[in-house]
Amino acid sequence: MKPKAIIVGAGIAGIATAIRLQKQGYEVIVFDLASVVGGKIKSYQWQNFRFDTGPSLFTLPKLVDDIFELCGKNPRQYFDYQPLKLVTKYFYSDGITIDSYSNPEKFAEEVELKLQVKKSVIHKFLQKQKRNYELLAPIFLENPIHIFSRLLKIKNIPALICVSNPILLFPMNLVNSYIFKNKYLTKIFNRYGTYNGSNPYKMPSLFNIISHLEHNVGAYLPSKGMVEIVNSLKKLALEMGVQFRLNSFVDEIIIENNIAIGVISNQNKYFSDIVISNMDVDFSYKKLLKTQKAPSIHINTPKSTSALIFHWAINKNFSELDVHNIMFADNYKAEFEYLFNKKITFFDPTIYVYISSKQVPKDAPNDSENWFVMINMPHLTNKNIDYDIDNIKKIITDKINKQLKTDINKYIIHENITTPQSLQNTTHSYLGSLYGGSSNTILSAFLRHPNFSSIKKMYFCGGTVHPGGGIPLCLLSAKITSELIAEKYNF
Ligand SMILES: Cc1cc2nc3c(=O)[nH]c(=O)nc-3n(C[C@H](O)[C@H](O)[C@H](O)COP(=O)(O)OP(=O)(O)OC[C@H]3O[C@@H](n4cnc5c(N)ncnc54)[C@H](O)[C@@H]3O)c2cc1C
Repeated sequence: MKPKAIIVGAGIAGIATAIRLQKQGYEVIVFDLASVVGGKIKSYQWQNFRFDTGPSLFTLPKLVDDIFELCGKNPRQYFDYQPLKLVTKYFYSDGITIDSYSNPEKFAEEVELKLQVKKSVIHKFLQKQKRNYELLAPIFLENPIHIFSRLLKIKNIPALICVSNPILLFPMNLVNSYIFKNKYLTKIFNRYGTYNGSNPYKMPSLFNIISHLEHNVGAYLPSKGMVEIVNSLKKLALEMGVQFRLNSFVDEIIIENNIAIGVISNQNKYFSDIVISNMDVDFSYKKLLKTQKAPSIHINTPKSTSALIFHWAINKNFSELDVHNIMFADNYKAEFEYLFNKKITFFDPTIYVYISSKQVPKDAPNDSENWFVMINMPHLTNKNIDYDIDNIKKIITDKINKQLKTDINKYIIHENITTPQSLQNTTHSYLGSLYGGSSNTILSAFLRHPNFSSIKKMYFCGGTVHPGGGIPLCLLSAKITSELIAEKYNF
């Protein structure tokens, strides 16, 4: 008889772990409270407009391809993606705009032309990030770092020396201001700190390696939108024999003698040899493992940002915009002060506008666009619970109107709003945070919960545990978790 694994949550890491374990010989059952898989990666349709509701930026697609290849399948028969030639259009309040390209030479040319910063500065910086990424990723992102014997190996010495370089420990903004000596460019590179919901004025400059992924490796968009990533993985999972129990809330993980033996859902008990939680790790302990002592060092850690998102069907084309657009706050530093210290909404937020129909025309009718308009928000606290959405919308539309010299309200024919509360309610993200713990200190990597647990046969995967949030890291967590299980148990 095959050993059985139960996974709580069909987020991207839950599905990827399910496929990997099924391939390892397990019978895998995935429970999710939602009626569709994908967790934060979802999509909805309004008339002929399709909207991605969660992630919009897709990097390292190879990590998705790897899963299909592991199962002997051709990934292109399941899902396809295209590189974005122009990754992001940046708008500043004084009228300057910068086009950011994946091609380093093209981006360097744009920066030299518009900001008079020598091309060599960009090339040198991106080369450095490439070297750091290639040195650090195999040890800190692709490895279970909480098993110290794996870290302290001779072959890891160059990476360990690299991370002890004081410059990498200085705050990202400090280092970027010094390198670029240009406030516009510094803002662009500081923004990578928000890719895991952190504060570039605090987080170590080590995280500049994030820019390597977008500029040296590339940014992509699946040909049917972001949701195609999880839909295609679900298709593969079903072909591999994974069973999904949707609309099934797991109430408890059953622990006996410090061993995880199954789950309780809808008052039924389901037993298994291994249990993996893809639910937010804080909520896993607070709701499913209530009788267990939570590892305090990994739980209740400072959280990453949340978001307020407006989905707008717009009955006009804006040629000034591309797929990804950023309208920066004037005072970027103050924005993070509000997000992380005051924990209230900033009065001049940076606005992100994602329009998939620019690259996927069938996502909106002709002469129309599907706008996903997002600002970063503090994670939930009792202070920010009753912010004024109408007022924030006015701030956002005023800023868009000024940048695009338009009256955007005239063109909004449909609106849907996602708040930090609704994110918490729908995906059970603790405090509505997008990426679990923030990465504002060098220790944050170690403060993330490991993929294993002190409870035997209990594992974790997903954006709130090691190695972190975002699609690529969730896929790496699935790989680490399934490999740890394979190493430990040979049923
Ligand atoms: C608005 C937004 C924008 C983002 N932008 C990007 C981006 O551009 N690029 C990027 O790479 N990443 C981005 N992210 C982050 C990325 O979406 C997440 O890191 C990733 O999707 C998390 O996946 P996960 O596997 O941890 O599970 P989740 O997506 O968190 O899913 C967990 C699943 O568990 C289920 N669940 C929870 N509790 C229970 C229970 N008790 N019983 C049964 N089921 C349960 C939930 O229903 C859910 O389906 C963004 C996230 C958001 C919300």
